[in-house]
Amino acid sequence: MPELPEVATVRRGLEPWVGGAKIEKVTLNRPDLRFPFPPDFAPVLEGATIETVGRRAKYLLFRLDNGWTWLSHLGMTGSYRFAGRRFKEPSRYYEPGVDEKHDHVVLDLAHPSEGRLTLIYADPRRFGFMDLFQDEADSPYLAGLGPEPLSNAFNADEMAARFRGKQAPMKAALLDQRVVAGLGNIYVSEALHRAHILPTRAAGTLVLKSGAPSKRLDLLADGVRAVLNEAIEAGGSTLRDFRDAEGGAGYFQHHFAVYDREGEACPTPGCRGTIKRIVQSGRATYYCPVCQH
Ligand SMILES: [Zn+2]
Repeated sequence: MPELPEVATVRRGLEPWVGGAKIEKVTLNRPDLRFPFPPDFAPVLEGATIETVGRRAKYLLFRLDNGWTWLSHLGMTGSYRFAGRRFKEPSRYYEPGVDEKHDHVVLDLAHPSEGRLTLIYADPRRFGFMDLFQDEADSPYLAGLGPEPLSNAFNADEMAARFRGKQAPMKAALLDQRVVAGLGNIYVSEALHRAHILPTRAAGTLVLKSGAPSKRLDLLADGVRAVLNEAIEAGGSTLRDFRDAEGGAGYFQHHFAVYDREGEACPTPGCRGTIKRIVQSGRATYYCPVCQH
């Protein structure tokens, strides 16, 4: 499952190629992905110009000049590529190989400097989906989402207000999309290790009696930002299928401190702990029982 840094990487890779491009034709090779396409999907897109590509949580948001936004979620295996074209360095994007039977959406674009481009969305497992909205408040996917972890709206005060009195373990509290949008399983483990917080600790125990955040919640807010920024710098990380623009494998190697490192030495300086793996709410959690408490 692509996490926020991977979606940010896809966004960054697409932006120079689709920003300013006019959508001339949309071909849907099936009526649905995880959900049906909106009935007016192709007519709304055709003739519109993509002004920018944004991101909210794990959603790509193509802002159109006709007032609509085209929302795209990559699910587990969704990817974008351009037919018959290689990217110029250093553009990167998500491309798990080419198998045309999974090319579900094909867009003919006219870009002001790149000329004609064919943008293809493929999604072998079809857990991705697309939608349209004019006002973010009307999107069932975006309404109710918590602050973006890389924005100033995400901070220790905000977390303290949400966590006060909560018995839920920290892991579950951080995966709650109303607390922070788009933070997935891998980066929760990484951020909690960075802040030396045990994933099983009750969230409310990190809030002071006054309702103010403890120092450790401050550290956690910084930890969340740091692990995401490092992963975005590394170009996304979690999918074996990630390819660079030229199709080279292994471009997105990113070093995790604890994730998938059961039995290895804890990388915290001076710590002699060994990384443990437990399962919380059906998902693997990795942590150090010595320096996380
Ligand atoms: Zn440790």
